[in-house]
This record gives sequence, structure tokens and C-alpha cells, in this order.
Amino acid sequence: ILELNHIYKDYVQGSMVVPVLKDVTLHVEEGEYVAIMGPSGSGKSTLMNIVGCLDLPTKGEYKLDGVDVLLQKENELADIRLNKIGFVFQTFQLLPRQTALENVALPLIYAGISKKERNRLAAEALDRVGLSDRLSFVPNQLSGGQKQRVAIARAMVNKPKILLADEPTGALDSKSGKQVMELFAKLNEEGVTVIMITHDGEIARHAGRTVDIFDGEISERTQEEVTL
Ligand code: ATP
Ligand code: MG
Repeated sequence: ILELNHIYKDYVQGSMVVPVLKDVTLHVEEGEYVAIMGPSGSGKSTLMNIVGCLDLPTKGEYKLDGVDVLLQKENELADIRLNKIGFVFQTFQLLPRQTALENVALPLIYAGISKKERNRLAAEALDRVGLSDRLSFVPNQLSGGQKQRVAIARAMVNKPKILLADEPTGALDSKSGKQVMELFAKLNEEGVTVIMITHDGEIARHAGRTVDIFDGEISERTQEEVTL
């Protein structure tokens, strides 16, 4: 479903050029569940931002669901982000003054769906993450694990084929982290392609495959080799 070939990413900071990704080649099939592991500063988020079409590589080739990403205009990239990809972040990124229902319905506004239908779809997505009794709660009335489940419902409300998660359990206790992992497993069983960044070998074991990134270069391990 996605194919990154010989991707390089440099950040330019004043007169300094910082090479962050170096010749990264990563192919992910539809329906796979891939964990990306690596130390802080190794380029994981940079890679995820490129995969999610939030940022473009300095050099390389990227095909996503048959589309050559680097040839798309900004409005076409926005379309891809909205329809093909769901994002989940370590710090949830919910709007604090909006209810769970409103947060989840948000992406549907950009899709031009009527309010009644938006609320119906958002309620359905919240039901799927086990939060049908929290529709009218605002984020600070929810636990960390519940906030992350709202964020997952929002990521999935457009029914994207790909779910990208950057340290989704990083801010959670182990019990809530486990619930999030169960949700990812369920979504993956339903056919969603999942790509997840984690620091935690225990979490990476939930994936079907683990890719290591070290100083901007990647290598693969078998799941048996993924240790704590
Ligand atoms: P962490 O586990 O701490 O989240 P990471 O693997 O996600 O780390 P990245 O955020 O991808 O790391 O950053 C990789 C490198 O790129 C870092 O050295 C960072 O300083 C640099 N970097 C990231 N974003 C920028 C930017 N916008 N401008 C300049 N340098 C950047
Ligand atoms: Mg990061």
C-alpha cells in the first residue's frame, strides 16, 4: 500500500544542513501492522511525517496507494491526509473545549458532511472504541486512555486505509496502553494497515513486523528478535 524508495531528508537550520533520513527504503503491504523502533532523535517522527504526507522528503520516491506523492499539489496532499490516513499522537491533540463527539466529528466537517450525519458517524466511531457513554465529555473530564481512544475514533472516523501512530502509548499507564494495543489489533484485523512508532519492545511485539531506525538508517528484525 506504500512504497518509500531511497528517501533522504535534510533539515536546513540557518547555515547548517542536518541530514536526518539517509537512504530509507520501506515497503508496507496493505493490511500489515508495522512497528518502528529507534532511539530519540533517530528520525522516527520525521519518517512518520513523510509517510503521512505532512512533510516531503528532500530526495527519493514515495508511492502511496498507487499515487506518486511527490508529484501531488498541496490540495491533493490534503485530500490524501483526510481520506487515506488516520493519525494518532502521543499527546492526543484533542481540542480542549470540544466534547468527545465534536472532536471526533471534526474531520467530517472538511469532508462536507451534514451535521446530523457527522454526529451519527462520530457516535458510531466512539462506540467502536468503547466510549458511547462519554460523548458529551470534554478532554479534561476523560482519563488518558479515554482521550487516546477518542483520538483513535477521530483518526478512524473517515474510514482511512492506513493508521499512523507516533508513540500512541507513550503518555499512558500500562493498562490503558494495553487497551490501545487491543484496539489497534482489532482495527488491523478489520484490514486497516497500521504503522506505529514506539520506544517499547513490549509494545512492538504486537506488530507483525518491526523496523529499526538508527541515526536515520533503517534495518529490519524478525519479531522473535524484538527484545526489551
Ligand atoms: P523522539 O523519539 O525523541 O521523538 P525521533 O526519532 O522522532 O525522536 P525526530 O523528531 O524525527 O526524532 O528528529 C530527528 C532529528 O531531526 C533530530 O536530531 C532533530 O533535531 C532533527 N529535526 C527534527 N525536526 C526538525 C526541524 N523541523 N528542523 C530542524 N531539525 C529537525
Ligand atoms: Mg518522535
